[in-house]
Amino acid sequence: MVDADQTFVIVGGGLAGAKAAETLRSEGFTGRVILIGDERDHPYERPPLSKGYLLGKEERDSVFVHEPGWYAQADVELHLGQTVVAIDRAAHTVRLGDGTVIRYDKLLLATGAEPRRLDVPGTDLAGVHHLRRLAHADRLRHVLAALGRDNGHLVIAGAGWIGLEVAAAAREYGAEVTVVEPEPTPLHSVLGPEVGQVFADLHAAHGVRFHFGARLTEITGQDGMVLAARTDDGEEHPAHDVLAAIGAAPRTALAESAGLVLADRAHGGGIAVDASLRTSDPDIYAAGDVAAVDHRLFETRLRVEHWANALNGGPAAARAMLGKDVRYDRVPYFFSDQYDLGMEYSGWAPPGSYDQVVIRGDAAKREFIAFWLREGQVLAGMNVNVWDVTEPVQRLIREGTHPDVEALADPTKPLESLFG
Ligand SMILES: Cc1cc2nc3c(=O)[nH]c(=O)nc-3n(C[C@H](O)[C@H](O)[C@H](O)COP(=O)(O)OP(=O)(O)OC[C@H]3O[C@@H](n4cnc5c(N)ncnc54)[C@H](O)[C@@H]3O)c2cc1C
Repeated sequence: MVDADQTFVIVGGGLAGAKAAETLRSEGFTGRVILIGDERDHPYERPPLSKGYLLGKEERDSVFVHEPGWYAQADVELHLGQTVVAIDRAAHTVRLGDGTVIRYDKLLLATGAEPRRLDVPGTDLAGVHHLRRLAHADRLRHVLAALGRDNGHLVIAGAGWIGLEVAAAAREYGAEVTVVEPEPTPLHSVLGPEVGQVFADLHAAHGVRFHFGARLTEITGQDGMVLAARTDDGEEHPAHDVLAAIGAAPRTALAESAGLVLADRAHGGGIAVDASLRTSDPDIYAAGDVAAVDHRLFETRLRVEHWANALNGGPAAARAMLGKDVRYDRVPYFFSDQYDLGMEYSGWAPPGSYDQVVIRGDAAKREFIAFWLREGQVLAGMNVNVWDVTEPVQRLIREGTHPDVEALADPTKPLESLFG
C-alpha cells in the first residue's frame, strides 16, 4: 500500500518522465512527486524537432507535453536545469549537481538517450551538428535556411530516421544534400533492404544524393568552418555543414555507477528491467529510451527508442511504482513523415529475424502496407500513405497470425478477414 507521506522521484524531464508524473497523480497518488531534468525547458516531445518545428511550420509552444502551469496545479515539484549525478541505493537518495540530496521511496529513471558522436578528425568544427534537443533544432533551422538561401551543401552521416527526416527538411529549404551511409540502403537495420529501397527512391526523387557503403572518415575545414567530408573509399563531398545522425546511446551512466544491472551492449544496451519495468533494485524503475524491457511478446530484451514507448512506458512504470500489476508488452510502434510520405511501423523485425516480406498495395506509388514474416507468422507491418490500419496490423502481430499470404498481399481483402 502506498501512503501519502511517500516521495516518488523521477529522473529525466522528457516524455516518459512527464507522463509518469501525470499518471502518478491521475492514479490518485497524494505523496510528493519530484521531477528532475537537466534541460532548462519544460518536458517536450522530440518528433517535431526533425519535422514541423524544424521546417518552421509548428510553433515552439506546441511541442511541450503539458502547459507550464500544469506542474504546479498537479503539485509536481520540478527541478529543471539540474542533473542527478549519483544515486545512493542504501540511503534511498539522489544527489544533484549542486549538492542537493533528495530522499526517495521509489525512483524512476527516464534519462533517455543522447546522440552518438562521430569519432573522426574535424568533428569539433562549428558546422558539425547533432539533433536531440530544442536548442539543436533552433540552430539547425537557421543553418538549413542559410544553406537554402546560399545554395549550400549539407552532408548527413547516417540514413536512419533522423538523417532522412532532416534530409527531407533540408531539401524543402533548398539545400544540397548528400547522405553517407555504410549500409546498402537507408534504414537497413530496421526495415532491411527490400523496403529500405522505397526510401532511397523517395529521397533520390527529391534530389538527395546517397553515398552507400561508405563511412565518414574526416571533416576538413578552415578557420573553424567545414569545407568537405571525406569517406573511407577516398571520396570527398563538398560541405558547408555536417549533421551526425548515427544513432543514439542510452544514458545509463547514473544507473551503471549505482550498480544496477544493464542490458548487453551488443543488443542495444540500456537499463535492464523486467516486464513491470522494475530494475534489479526493487525500488527503482526505468522507462522510455533508456529501458531494455524483458518483452514477453517477442520473448527477447527490447530497448525501443520511440515516442509511443515513452508515452506508454512512463505511465506503465508509474502504475508499477504504485504497486499495480503491470506487464509491459505493447507492440512497438513509431511513425515518420518525409515530404508527402507518412508511415507507421508496428512490431519488431530486424534483418535476420524474418524470411519473407509481403507487399500489399503499390510500393512504386508509395501507397502500401509491408509485412515482415518468419515461417509465415507476421512479425511487423508498416503502412505507407495508407491510414487507420494500425489496430488490425498490431492484432495480426500480437496474435502471432499465420495469414494466407495471397490474401495478405491483396488490398481488396480486409485485414480483419485474416485473423486466425
Ligand atoms: C529529432 C528527433 C525526432 C524524433 N522523431 C520521432 C518520430 O517521428 N517518431 C517516433 O516514434 N520517435 C521519434 N523520436 C524518438 C522519441 O522522441 C524518443 O523516443 C523519446 O523522446 C524518448 O523519450 P524519453 O523520455 O525516454 O527520453 P528523452 O526524451 O531523451 O528525455 C530524457 C530527459 O532526461 C534528461 N536527463 C538524462 N540524464 C539526466 C540526469 N542524470 N539528470 C537529469 N536529467 C537527465 C535528458 O536531458 C532528457 O531531457 C525522435 C527523436 C528525436 C531526437
